[in-house]
Amino acid sequence: MGRSEAVKKTRIVRRGLAFLAIIYLGWLAWQIVFFRRYGAAAPANSAVEAAETPRYWESEGVYHVHTSFSDGRRSADEVAAIGAKAGLDFVILTDHGAPNEASLAAQGRKSGILLLAGCEISSNRGHLAALGFAVPTRPFSQEAEMAAREVAGLGGFTIIAHPYSKIHWSWGPWAGYGGIEIFNGDTTVKRRLVRTVLSLPILLIRPEAALLRLLAPPQAETGKWDRLAAAHPTFAYFAADAHFAYGALFTLFHLHVLLDSPPASDFEGARGQIFAALKAGRFYNAVEAAASARGFRFQAEAEDVLLPMGSTAPPGAGPVRFVVRTPFAFAHETYLLRNGIEIARSAGPELVFRTAGPGVFRVEVFLRERSPLDPRVPWIVSNPIFLERPSR
Ligand SMILES: [Zn+2]
Ligand SMILES: [Zn+2]
Repeated sequence: MGRSEAVKKTRIVRRGLAFLAIIYLGWLAWQIVFFRRYGAAAPANSAVEAAETPRYWESEGVYHVHTSFSDGRRSADEVAAIGAKAGLDFVILTDHGAPNEASLAAQGRKSGILLLAGCEISSNRGHLAALGFAVPTRPFSQEAEMAAREVAGLGGFTIIAHPYSKIHWSWGPWAGYGGIEIFNGDTTVKRRLVRTVLSLPILLIRPEAALLRLLAPPQAETGKWDRLAAAHPTFAYFAADAHFAYGALFTLFHLHVLLDSPPASDFEGARGQIFAALKAGRFYNAVEAAASARGFRFQAEAEDVLLPMGSTAPPGAGPVRFVVRTPFAFAHETYLLRNGIEIARSAGPELVFRTAGPGVFRVEVFLRERSPLDPRVPWIVSNPIFLERPSR
């Protein structure tokens, strides 16, 4: 090969690389410049609240957070301050341990928000989050079924964490778990490593935009959840699983808890309200970094009872009317699902559907505006309302 030919080849390679770099930089610029988060429509929201009976107090927060009490980068006080800056009402710590006593002791009203704590138990079946329990006198069992029963015995409930991550859940007999994680921030970043690396510059400048791009449709998780919920009341959780980058992760997934009375002024009272509502399934999840989900409502109206999310229609309740309210000023599409299958759809601010059941009814809302969020990824996932087969 002649010298001039080698020079030519180098030139071609250089040009190719420069071309790729330009495409990459252009793509980065597009991602950063064109990211937009859709905000809450205040007038529409208050209209919904006025029409609401009974009225709910919506409390917004983040679940599944690690601090320096286990393998997180920041202290509990720093995490509370970051949560307050992100506009949250509460942050739920789940430091590793069975339980993690220091983490539990750090609970309180800090930086003006509720810093709550449960723990994440490393069990024989995988990671099990435990919330809302009274402090145990001896450590929880490492055996998942036993641990779930121990937590329940202390007034708490358990959530199967990241069931399909590297540390996956090995399914066994049902032990009355209260929930399953549908999204997990930590798993998302690790599972899509190539995308994460490519998105590194966006992660630094617009972390919310980069995180949104990483989300894939949670089909395995929702499919499993639908099968579980058909047999036992099981609730869905969007989990931050934050160990670092708290600021970005605190904008990604939010839990919206619906309280039937204003938040108590004393810490213990307010803590009890949040955990009781989560245990009852009276909350919905949202990919909050894409758009503000505040104001979403899903309930069923039977003859003279009102059934909130998480509830089961009493036997002989008769036909019910499902009502979904999505008072958002941007394009979205609402799906009502029965046992995981679509039965009604709407692009408007209200969806009404009448049925006599039986089934497990839940709602998914998809964003239809331009967004880094994959259009197949649900923006809002409600918890179910259960209608039982009438007993003979
Ligand atoms: Zn874990
Ligand atoms: Zn974790």
